[in-house]
Amino acid sequence: MDDLQDQMSTPQQDNGAESRLMHEQDWALTPLSIPSTGQNTLSEHTFAGHTHVVCFSEHDASLITMLSAFLGDGLRAGDNCIVVATPSHHEHLEQHLQATGFDLAQAVATGTYIPLDAATTMARFLVDGQPDSTRFIEVIGPLIEQATQGGRRVRIFGEMVALLWAQGKQAAAIRLEEFWNALGQRYTFSLFCAYPLQDFDGRKHEAAFTHICQLHSQLVPPTSYTQLTEQERLRTFTLLQQKANTLQVKITESQAAQERLRALAAIVESSDDAILSKTLSGIITSWNSAAQRIYGYTAQEMIGAHVTRIFPPDQYEEFEQIMAKIRLGEPVDHFETRRVRKDGQELLVSVTISPIKDENGVIFGASTIARDITEQRRLEAKSQRLFASNLIGIFVADETGRLLETNQAFLDLVGYTQDEWQAEAPLAMTSPSFLASFLRPLIQSAHAGNGSSDPQETILLHKSGKALPILMALTCIEHTQTCIGFVLDISERKALEQRKDIFIGMASHELKTPVTSLKGFLGLVQRLLSQKEFSQQGNEKILQYLARMDAQIEKLTKLINDLLDVSMMQAGQLIYREEQVEVDTLVREIVENVQETTQTHRLLVQGETRTAVFGDPDRLGQVLINLLQNAIKYSPNANTVLIHLDATEEQVQIRVQDFGLGISKEHHQKIFERFYRVTDQEEKTYPGMGIGLTISQEIIKRHGGRFWVESERNKGAIFSLSLPLIQRESQVLSQEEERERMKQPNAE
Ligand code: ADP
Repeated sequence: MDDLQDQMSTPQQDNGAESRLMHEQDWALTPLSIPSTGQNTLSEHTFAGHTHVVCFSEHDASLITMLSAFLGDGLRAGDNCIVVATPSHHEHLEQHLQATGFDLAQAVATGTYIPLDAATTMARFLVDGQPDSTRFIEVIGPLIEQATQGGRRVRIFGEMVALLWAQGKQAAAIRLEEFWNALGQRYTFSLFCAYPLQDFDGRKHEAAFTHICQLHSQLVPPTSYTQLTEQERLRTFTLLQQKANTLQVKITESQAAQERLRALAAIVESSDDAILSKTLSGIITSWNSAAQRIYGYTAQEMIGAHVTRIFPPDQYEEFEQIMAKIRLGEPVDHFETRRVRKDGQELLVSVTISPIKDENGVIFGASTIARDITEQRRLEAKSQRLFASNLIGIFVADETGRLLETNQAFLDLVGYTQDEWQAEAPLAMTSPSFLASFLRPLIQSAHAGNGSSDPQETILLHKSGKALPILMALTCIEHTQTCIGFVLDISERKALEQRKDIFIGMASHELKTPVTSLKGFLGLVQRLLSQKEFSQQGNEKILQYLARMDAQIEKLTKLINDLLDVSMMQAGQLIYREEQVEVDTLVREIVENVQETTQTHRLLVQGETRTAVFGDPDRLGQVLINLLQNAIKYSPNANTVLIHLDATEEQVQIRVQDFGLGISKEHHQKIFERFYRVTDQEEKTYPGMGIGLTISQEIIKRHGGRFWVESERNKGAIFSLSLPLIQRESQVLSQEEERERMKQPNAE
C-alpha cells in the first residue's frame, strides 16, 4: 500500500505533467480500444484481466442498459460487483437487474453485489473538496481487497468521477481516474466509468476529454453506435463527419454573426437617439445609454419594467394602439408624442416603432427609436410666435427672392388679405424692379456675407399702387437656401422728415430775403460814401466797417444757401446745369478764389488732368470750395493745403489734402450725414452747420461719381472725389442715362 500511496501522491501535488508521466510509465500505455462488433459491447472477453473502461453516455436509459449488461454478466459469471452510483442510478439499475431475473437482495446479502452511494463514498476521501490519495486507498483499497479474496474477479462501476466533472472540478475528476489506475496496479478489477456526454462542451473540453480517454484502456461508444453493423458504422461515421463540418461552418457563421451583433450593439450604444426593445406585452428588454440620458432611468431600472413607465398617465391608451399596429406587422413612423422623464419632466419625442421578427417571421417584440424634440419644438414655437406677432412684417423668401411665406403684419403693410395674397400678391411683390434692384442683391449679399444684411430703406408697392417707404433687413436661415426678411414701415418717419425739410426750406427763404435787401442797401451806402464830399479819413473808416459787414453777409448767405440746398436736395429739387466742364480750369479758378480769402494757408495744385467732365460747374465748384474751406478751417496750425489732380482712362480724381486735426475712423461715414459734426472738445470752436459734406456728396453722386475720406485723428485728412470722364465713347450712353436721371426729381 505504501508504494501505491507514493505513486498516487505524486500527481496529487501536480495534476498536470506528473499525472501524464505516471500514466505513461505505469498503466495507460495500453492503447485505447473501441469495441467494434457484437451486440453486447461489454461482453465477457472485454473485461478479461484489469480493464478501465469509459463510456460517454447520451442519456440515462442507455447507461443503465450498458451497466446492467456489464454487472449482469459479472453476476452470472460469479464475479463480485461494486457499484458506486447516485441513488437514482442505483434505483434504475436494481430495477433493471431484477427485471432480468437477478435476486439482488440475495446478492447484497452474500456480498457479491456491493451498492455504495457515490457522493457519500467520495466524501470520505475528499480533503478540501479534492480527492486525497491516502484516503482514497484507505476507503476503496479494503473494499477491493475484500472483493478479490478467494481469487474472485471484481467488476466496479464508479460514478464519482462523473460527479466531480459535473461540479466543474475537471482536474479533480482526472486525478481520481489516475488514483483508480494506480489501484489497478495492485488489484485486478474491471472498472467502468461513465460521464454524461452533454457535460462535455466541444472545443472547451477538448483537451480534458482527450486526457480522460488516455486514462482508460477502453472507450465504450454510446449504445446507438455499438448496435450498428460495420456498414452502418461507416455510414454513421461519415454522417458524423459531415455534421461536424456543418457545425464548424455554423460556428464560423455564428462567430461572424456575433461580430456583426457586437458592431450593431456599439452603434446602438453610441446613438444620440434613445433605442429600446420590448416584448409585445410592453416589457422592456433592452435600453441604450441615450435612453438613459433622455429619460433619466438606467438600463437596470428599465429592463424588465413596462414601457408605460415613461408614458404620461393620460397616454396609456397610446401603447395599446401602437402595439395593435405592431402585431399586424405595421411600423409606426416618426410619431410625435409625449413622454415623462424620471424626474417628472415632460418631453416631446418623435418615435419610430418597428416590429421585431424571429427567423420564421413571427413578430415577438418591437424596437423603438425615440428622438427628444422638446427643444426643437420650443424653438419652432418661439419663432412661430414671432412670426405671428403683428409688430413687424416678416416674410420667408428663397434665394431668387420668391416669397414663400408672409405673416399678417406684412400683408397689412402691403394691403392684401391672406386669400388675395395667395392668389395674386406674390406676383405684385416680385415685380422685376423690386426684385432685381433691391431684394435679390440684398439676399445675395446676406448669403455672401455673415448671413444677414444691414437694415436698408426701400419702397414697397402697396396694393393701392402707393409707394410705401420701408426699412428691410434679411437673415439667412441656416442649412437652407431661404432667408427671413423683417420689414418695418417707416412712412411715418419719412413724413416727419419731409415736414422738417419743408420747414428748413421756408426758414431759409425767410432768412435770405432780408439779407438780400440788406446787401443791396449796403451796396448803395458804399457807393454814396465813396463820393468826394466825404472826408478822406471818415471814408476809410466807414469803408472798413462796411467791408467787414459785407464779409459777414457773405458768410450768412453761404449758410442760407447751404440750408436751402439741403432742403431742395431732400425734396429732390436741386437744379443742375448740364455742360462740359474742363476740370483743370475749374479747379484752378476755385483755388485762386479761395486763396484770396486766406492769409494763413497756401493752396497748392499738384498735377493736371487735361480732361473734362459733364455736369454743373457751379455745383462742382461748390464742392471744391467746401472741401478747401474745411481743409483751411480744420488745420489751424498748418499752412498748406494740397490739391492733387489725377486722371485714369475712365475717371478723374480730385483730392484735397490738409495737415490738420484729422478725423478718427468712427466718424468717417457719419460726417456725410445731414447736420453731423464731430463734437470733440477742441472742435467746438469751429463754426459750421454740418451740411457742407452732405451737399457735396449728393452733388458728386448726381454726377455719377464717388466721394470719400481717408484720415486719422491728428494726421490730417484727404477728401477725394472721382468723376466719370466725358471723352470715353463707352460712357456716352451711360452719361446720357445719367442726364435723363438728373432731370427727374427724386430719381434715387
Ligand atoms: P461743417 O464744416 O459746417 O461742420 P461739413 O459737412 O463740411 O460741415 O463737415 C462735417 C464735419 O466733418 C465737420 O463738422 C468736421 O467735424 C468734419 N470735417 C470736415 N472736413 C474736415 C477736415 N478737413 N478735417 C477735419 N475734420 C473735417
